[in-house]
Amino acid sequence: MILVTGGAGYIGSHTCVELIKAGYEVVVFDNFSNSSEESIKRVEKITSATINLCHGDIRKKSDLRKVFKNYSIDAVIHFAGLKAVGESIQKPLDYYDNNVNGTIALCQVMQEFGCKKIIFSSSATVYGIPHTTPIKEDFPLSATNPYGKTKLFIEEILHDLFASDNSYKIAILRYFNPIGAHESGLIGEDPRGIPNNLMPFISQTAIGKREFLSVFGDDYDTHDGTGVRDYIHVVDLSLGHVKALKKLDDIKEILVVNLGTGCGYSVLDMVKAFEKASGKKVPYKFAPRRSGDVAKCFADASFAKKIIDWSAAKGIDEMCEDAWRWQSKNPNGYN
Ligand code: NAD
Ligand code: UDP
Repeated sequence: MILVTGGAGYIGSHTCVELIKAGYEVVVFDNFSNSSEESIKRVEKITSATINLCHGDIRKKSDLRKVFKNYSIDAVIHFAGLKAVGESIQKPLDYYDNNVNGTIALCQVMQEFGCKKIIFSSSATVYGIPHTTPIKEDFPLSATNPYGKTKLFIEEILHDLFASDNSYKIAILRYFNPIGAHESGLIGEDPRGIPNNLMPFISQTAIGKREFLSVFGDDYDTHDGTGVRDYIHVVDLSLGHVKALKKLDDIKEILVVNLGTGCGYSVLDMVKAFEKASGKKVPYKFAPRRSGDVAKCFADASFAKKIIDWSAAKGIDEMCEDAWRWQSKNPNGYN
């Protein structure tokens, strides 16, 4: 049985689908602070499986112990956490508490129950301002905001845990920019309030919920002056977790892997691709750079291919088509 913390969220719900398709049984543990139970019902619809669902907070050991008592957990895929960069600057203590304390509590309860396998959701944000691209796993690490620091601290904690007991099997997956949705249009990204990220903002603009997209910066050193990122289809990303899980038993060291496509696209490239996929206009205006943003961020994805035999299969047209199907079938998300 695989415990998926944060399994009702965007990446967690898609990963549950791929885990079930690969033959795993899952139990989802979530406090629904940024998700709804509807996503789980949709996962059940897609997979025709019943999902074991536990309401709880990773910071509460009593909640976690219940899960470990009720199910025989082989491994944990740990998505639960807060993820909004801007909010983390406003509320740093909430982020350290939720992400860092939550992960420590989780690891302590895993230890109590003798569960030593964990896959952790890290982020390309741990590369800070990369000196060059594509980004390899051994590049220097830094963080410019509390959210990024929580990811860095958790990576360090996991390294120390492994150093204390090298029978642990730990994979740290550094995601680039997950976008898109399951091809069924039943599950997808459902941000609360005004989206911070580019793709949900573009799709809400295409459907008329937002008047125009502000493009942050037109003078970066990129092919069209707008910021370049490595957008990766959320289903490809989810499959990366299944591959990492299959590899866990064989690893002798901590596995640290970039999950990206290796391709960089600009904000304007994404606007164009989305317009093509949706047949809708995405009005935009140039705005000043957003503080903390880097010009270019894309992965060297070769280590993932070598070590877990994973590479992304879906391109930006498919990412945009699937994002649009989700947006147009669910204009108000899961509500
Ligand atoms: P999400 O907010 O959709 O999912 C996170 C889930 O965790 C939500 O269902 C939320 O209710 C739950 N949760 C939060 N705090 C919890 C707690 N204390 N106890 C129990 N459940 C809790 O986010 P996502 O986009 O699916 O991201 C999943 C993970 O991947 C996060 O750790 C995030 O930091 C990381 N990540 C995301 C991105 C991205 O762009 N989406 C990029 C890099 C890394
Ligand atoms: N971006 C933008 N307008 C928005 C949101 C994002 O121009 O409303 C740009 C942002 O400056 C960056 C890219 O889109 O170049 C991706 O931003 P996102 O917040 O999605 O991801 P991240 O910054 O974490 O890579």
